[in-house]
Amino acid sequence: MEAEIERVLLRREQIAARVRSMAAEIADVYAPLDGGLTLVPILSGAIIFLADLIRELPLKLKIAVVQVSTYPGASTKPGDPRVLIELNGHLRGRHVLIVDDILDTGRTLQCVQARLAAESPASIRTAVLLRKPNADAALADFVGFDIEDRFVVGYGLDYDDHYRNYPHIGVLRGELL
Ligand code: 5GP
Ligand code: MG
Repeated sequence: MEAEIERVLLRREQIAARVRSMAAEIADVYAPLDGGLTLVPILSGAIIFLADLIRELPLKLKIAVVQVSTYPGASTKPGDPRVLIELNGHLRGRHVLIVDDILDTGRTLQCVQARLAAESPASIRTAVLLRKPNADAALADFVGFDIEDRFVVGYGLDYDDHYRNYPHIGVLRGELL
């Protein structure tokens, strides 16, 4: 995999340190609140971030996964995210924290937020590991790193479903895209 990465942006140790400090920021917000916390990770990109984040969170929490397909089929125009939800518990009255790998245009987060708002949660916030400059900055309540506008892979982020297991976050060589 290393040969296919043009440049490493964030090394695993750097990511781990930031995930720990993000968990502390998140715990500060939720610890004083009444009502349970449910993390809603957006599959598949958020899985590694989620796994690391929850083990740094000293809070009682539940997880309800969400899958978003941006290109559901040839008949639907691309860019219309479709949200598939598997709610392990009811979100009504719970504090919801949406967890995603990266915030680019924000369409994915907006779409998931709108879908979850219909479940009458007590609150909805968002945590993303990475944020690109295109995004409406206000869409993410907790942000790991602001990065440049390049296509990145690793630490859960894929290209054609590959590279999710690359332990660092790097820019994929342009000729592979
Ligand atoms: P948005 O809806 O904010 O434009 O895009 C968010 C989604 O697009 C992310 O959840 C991620 O799946 C995908 N995405 C955006 N930028 C990148 C990138 O640089 N690398 C990878 N692997 N996925 C990206
Ligand atoms: Mg994604």
